[in-house]
Amino acid sequence: MSETSQSTPVRLGAGGHWRNWVGNQSFVARHKGEPASEDELAAMVAQAARANLPVRVAGSGHSFTPVVATSGLLLSLKAMQGVVGADLTRKRVTVRAGTRIGDIGRALKGMGLSLANQGDIDAQAIAGALSTGTHGTGITLGCLSTQAVGMRLVKADGDILDLDIDADPETMAAAQVAVGMLGVMSTVTLQVVDAYNLEEKQWRDDFEACMESHDQLAAGNRHFGFFWCPVPESRHLYCLPDLAAVSPTRREHDVCEMKVMNVTDAAPFANEATFERVAYSSEIYPIEYVPNFHELEYAIPVEHGKEALRQVRALMLTKHTNCIYPVEYRFVAGDSGMLSPYYRRASVTISVSGGPGVDYWSYLTDVDAILRPYGARPHWGKLHFNAREDMPALYPRYEAFQAIRRRLDPEDRFLNDHLRGLFG
Ligand SMILES: Cc1cc2nc3c(=O)[nH]c(=O)nc-3n(C[C@H](O)[C@H](O)[C@H](O)COP(=O)(O)OP(=O)(O)OC[C@H]3O[C@@H](n4cnc5c(N)ncnc54)[C@H](O)[C@@H]3O)c2cc1C
Repeated sequence: MSETSQSTPVRLGAGGHWRNWVGNQSFVARHKGEPASEDELAAMVAQAARANLPVRVAGSGHSFTPVVATSGLLLSLKAMQGVVGADLTRKRVTVRAGTRIGDIGRALKGMGLSLANQGDIDAQAIAGALSTGTHGTGITLGCLSTQAVGMRLVKADGDILDLDIDADPETMAAAQVAVGMLGVMSTVTLQVVDAYNLEEKQWRDDFEACMESHDQLAAGNRHFGFFWCPVPESRHLYCLPDLAAVSPTRREHDVCEMKVMNVTDAAPFANEATFERVAYSSEIYPIEYVPNFHELEYAIPVEHGKEALRQVRALMLTKHTNCIYPVEYRFVAGDSGMLSPYYRRASVTISVSGGPGVDYWSYLTDVDAILRPYGARPHWGKLHFNAREDMPALYPRYEAFQAIRRRLDPEDRFLNDHLRGLFG
């Protein structure tokens, strides 16, 4: 336990406005804090406790849900970045919680190591990505939180909890995906793997051809995922490349933009004509997005993926023909995180988007109605329609999480209105 936190009074800085990356969430915090060390962070949290203020942390603001909002103290760990230690024998690396995923990849490359998997962007702070169960694609690969084997958490009273998955697997299972409700992560220890290069291949296929090859591509590649595009304009909304030159189909409507990635010994290269390339793992994963979409995503059991996608596609081709953002479809292995969308369940994720300034709510609620019967669990960082009464059935360990949360944060300091509606 740290001795510094309770005894060191600090003055909390002025507050102000905050908005997320895409601009659909904003609020005014009474105080803002940008600690440069764990001691300073702990002192700020303890000071907020003395002033009876709620506390939230912002990562890089890439969540679409109000998971950062607070009227009290808003912390940013921008000044707490970088690698603090590496155990090369066990391949465990400890980073400050504000470190961006892209910077972790660059540091690991220099050490001959890699992250086992990543998502579509690498701009997130590692603590932010872990907090919502951020994932990539790959039927045998868990979400990023499964790579977290330890962390130091500043609790609501400012004391430090040093967690290790071997010493306290139960609390780690709660902390791996906790939406910032257990405390403020100061550092995170990640289980990483030997460095590897990935070979990426992309092509376009008809929807039915994609469905026919779905099982085989999922099982036969380390990573497989696709974007279903109802119309040609869809791919522009997500900055997807035009794969016509390597497309077995002539259609541009109702097609899937396919991608597989596999580990290779080949040296880095890029062939722009064939949409094939090889590079160090973390240089392959991220793709480009611009802040022109508001996204909903649910995880459902993998065995229902195709059937559920067919229903979402039918909805878009009949009732919501003006909703043309691509539907992203990915695979995630089951895990043991109490609030993980993939808890003990091999899953596919289905995500849909609406445009800023457009009334997309009836579309999103229709998608919700389709996916709900499959036991859909929300991505905590993406729009969803769940409420407290949905939680126990969706998360078998909901009450265990709540017991740990109440022990670590008895005064609900880390809840905000959004989270109170789910966990209060
Ligand atoms: C363009 C884009 C692409 C995306 N691609 C993917 C993808 O491929 N896969 C996927 O699964 N998701 C994806 N997402 C969602 C994104 O990964 C998550 O929303 C993620 O949580 C964002 O990380 P962040 O650092 O921006 O955290 P924020 O959104 O700022 O915060 C997320 C949560 O983490 C908490 N938090 C942040 N730092 C700490 C800390 N130090 N201690 C405790 N709690 C903390 C916050 O309080 C909040 O509850 C994408 C989002 C966008 C906008």
